[in-house]
Amino acid sequence: FRNSGPAPKPENPLPGVKNIIGVSSGKGGVGKSTVASNLAVALARLGYKVGLLDADIFGPSVPKMFGVEDEPLYMEKVGGQDYIVPIERYGVKLLSIGLLMERDAPALWRGAMASRALNQLITQGMWGDLDYFLIDMPPGTSDIHLTLVQTLAITGVIIISTPQEVALADARKGIGMFTDDKVNVPVLGIVENMAWFTPAAHPDERYYIFGRDGAVELARRLKVKLLAQIPIVGSICEGGDSGEPIALRESITGEAFMTLGRAVVE
Ligand code: ADP
Repeated sequence: FRNSGPAPKPENPLPGVKNIIGVSSGKGGVGKSTVASNLAVALARLGYKVGLLDADIFGPSVPKMFGVEDEPLYMEKVGGQDYIVPIERYGVKLLSIGLLMERDAPALWRGAMASRALNQLITQGMWGDLDYFLIDMPPGTSDIHLTLVQTLAITGVIIISTPQEVALADARKGIGMFTDDKVNVPVLGIVENMAWFTPAAHPDERYYIFGRDGAVELARRLKVKLLAQIPIVGSICEGGDSGEPIALRESITGEAFMTLGRAVVE
């Protein structure tokens, strides 16, 4: 009967992977998948070998953000064992729990079933050698998070939050879960998404729609790094909908994600 003390360091089922980074948020809709997708593309553009696992069972959106929702999944047999071949797009190896579900099927997978499916994507995925393996985690605090921290030797997590009070309160809870003695996963930093809005006609103006510097303050208070502030930009949203993450493009916004990539690598 063990109920205290730090969790035993899990044995890494991904021996070819150098860094495993969870991307998490306290609540949904704050741009976690958008940031995870763009960060993956940015790291690939910086020359790293990158994998992205979409573990958000409640709203798997990575396939759409990479334009691969219709791609079939292939299995490959190696040494008598079946492996799932990740889809490769923009230099990123992808697998999503969404690719195993019917397009419009509600997220019926819960609890043990979802955990088992995720385990399969991790241990049966042909991930090979990677510098960065990003995991788009579900929002909030759930069994899935525990499964992930127990299955993988996670290098650290990045927390995404808007500057809004309700998002910050939930982000704080999420950080509390990871830094809990039993979980003990380092928080690499916070990304403040939707930090402000700048109208195209008034490039010098900033409108703090969700409040100002909320995540900056939270980072300061909890003594974690602020990795980036990403503004509200139409092209970020359009990039997600069209399957071409904005980080692919040479632009001020694309550059913001490249800067985030460099901050994560540091
Ligand atoms: P989550 O993964 O936290 O649920 P998503 O990444 O799916 O959130 O983002 C929610 C919505 O907000 C999506 O339509 C996405 O395109 C949009 N979005 C996210 N971040 C930004 C941003 N910085 N600027 C504009 N739209 C954004």
